[in-house]
Amino acid sequence: MPTDGLYIHVPFCKSRCIYCDFYSTTCGADKRQAYTDALCHEMRLRRDFLDGGTLGSVYIGGGTPSTLSADELGRIFQTIATTWSLSADAEVTLEANPDDITPDYAKALKALGINRVSMGVQTFNDGMLRFLHRRHSAGQVQEAIDHLQGAGIDNLSIDLIYGLPGQTLEQWQQDVGKALALPVSHLSAYALIYEEGTALYRLREQGKAAEASDELSLQMFEALMDMAAEAGFRHYEISNFALPHREARHNSGYWTGMHYLGIGPAAHSYNGTVRQWNTPDLSAYLKAGGDTAAAGLITTETLTPKIRQEETLLTRLRTAEGLDLAAFTREFGQQALDALLARAKPYINNGTLVLCDAAPESFINGQWSIVNAEGIASNSSAVSGVGADFKDPRERSGNGQWLCLTRKGIFISDGIISSLFED
Ligand code: SF4
Repeated sequence: MPTDGLYIHVPFCKSRCIYCDFYSTTCGADKRQAYTDALCHEMRLRRDFLDGGTLGSVYIGGGTPSTLSADELGRIFQTIATTWSLSADAEVTLEANPDDITPDYAKALKALGINRVSMGVQTFNDGMLRFLHRRHSAGQVQEAIDHLQGAGIDNLSIDLIYGLPGQTLEQWQQDVGKALALPVSHLSAYALIYEEGTALYRLREQGKAAEASDELSLQMFEALMDMAAEAGFRHYEISNFALPHREARHNSGYWTGMHYLGIGPAAHSYNGTVRQWNTPDLSAYLKAGGDTAAAGLITTETLTPKIRQEETLLTRLRTAEGLDLAAFTREFGQQALDALLARAKPYINNGTLVLCDAAPESFINGQWSIVNAEGIASNSSAVSGVGADFKDPRERSGNGQWLCLTRKGIFISDGIISSLFED
């Protein structure tokens, strides 16, 4: 029985990082109580969006959710418990800033049922952390991990950013090495993006921050993939690596069609039929007391077959397993599959996409060669566990054929995936 997900947005940060364009505000301390009330009210009002399903994951993200006190988090979890049923093995994640994690706070998180903590570390270089206006130091990361483990929370994830201004390949390798030496089971890594409107964007415009070249970024990403694999981490999604069975269940749900409800300004929801999102306006949200529907703060998009097909490609191809062509055909039909394979052909030819006979564990180096007019691959360059008995997906029934990004394709995945969309 599939389970649903609940996302709760906490739009408060104690300071603004110079690269960030997420919806959050630094002036939230006096508003936290009212905000907690509004979140709880919105949860009760929108409980039926999920059709009464059991929650398999709860994710409290931001912003910086660890700016909430243990009491405020307690009220949120109390409301969750009285509004839905939570599966016994639910993944319950809190995003946290390392310097918020004291021993008492870690114990309170454990007592609330939080069993996974995801920390924004970004780099272990203290000078760079200051440049980015992060408020923690590298030393505080280890302390936070000690406190969380001491409290009994051992499912830990950290985020890193690569391509920082002036960062060398060696410095990045040091960051990855330090991350992998920590007792964490999950690692997310993102290329630095110069988002318009951020302080970092302005620094680049003024010539005070140099963007990493594509070549350096690619080298950094390849180093990351190699080091993570060496440490036993599975590269299961473009930006995510995990030890066995420690994949982020909530985030994986976004890529595999899980139904979820998003609570708070800017939060998105999806129930298989519609997608909804709340207006990113904290003042309006507080004024409405969380009744986003009555205040006209919800936008709804009904998913047409074309949108669903595009979303399927966008989300599934981000994962190492890739797109299950049999499932795609069941949902969108044979004609859609034929058109997709024709569009995929040039990428299969140049080794950025691959057709596999089974869902791969990790992004692979293999390359199929094209032998027939329809663009169907027939053999592979020695990819372990993949495809010696490859058959045309259209000749098979049931499971079996998967369209996946290769390691070579990951870095240009956005362009590849969008070119697979119907005209
Ligand atoms: S803590 Fe996170 S959400 Fe807040 S400003 Fe920094 S990057 Fe953005």
